[in-house]
Amino acid sequence: MMEGAIPKIIKFGFKDYVLDVGEKKRTAVCKVCNSKIRDMSTTTSNFIRHYKTHKERYEEYIHTKGTFDASQPQIS
Ligand SMILES: [Zn+2]
Repeated sequence: MMEGAIPKIIKFGFKDYVLDVGEKKRTAVCKVCNSKIRDMSTTTSNFIRHYKTHKERYEEYIHTKGTFDASQPQIS
């Protein structure tokens, strides 16, 4: 099984992550407002869409993601 990787958006902004392999669904709870979000096990669009409602946190996520993925120098 290759189900070990938690998507970055979930790692960053959500807690209580549950992957239901049988149902092909995953759920997690938003750290900001404690809403429970569901999505297919292969996508994160619901999580991202929800997180965009927390604009400041979402922008923080975008910046964090950039520093994870890219090797570009950070100018601060
Ligand atoms: Zn939320």
